[in-house]
Amino acid sequence: MDKIWEEMYEAAKAVLGSVTISDYVKAGEVSAAVRSKSGQIYTGVCIDTCSSLGICAERNAIFNMITNGEYEIDRVLCIPPNEGKGAPCGACRELMTQLMPGKYKDIKIMIDYSKGQVMTLGELTPEWWIE
Ligand SMILES: [Zn+2]
Repeated sequence: MDKIWEEMYEAAKAVLGSVTISDYVKAGEVSAAVRSKSGQIYTGVCIDTCSSLGICAERNAIFNMITNGEYEIDRVLCIPPNEGKGAPCGACRELMTQLMPGKYKDIKIMIDYSKGQVMTLGELTPEWWIE
């Protein structure tokens, strides 16, 4: 495991923590860290709401990156419930492909931090529907 993944894990861990905001909104059960091409790390938490207004932690972190004027992803790490393993959902993969058409296949994604298992988005999503 290289130091960058460890830094990303610590950044995601720092914002992890489930909180009930109202009768309809909970957040933080999952957290994510996205590293941009410049090397900056952006974090996000999942937001769960009534009637599917919420967002995954990965997309929240990507939107945080975009909000800060960066548009290219290098790596993605997510801490799922119980620190288990998991790949980004289809909506998160689709956002990454649309952000970086022609380059998205190189995005590195941590699948299982406990084992250091990394896959590229190209391996997870070999055939994008637009290309
Ligand atoms: Zn997702």
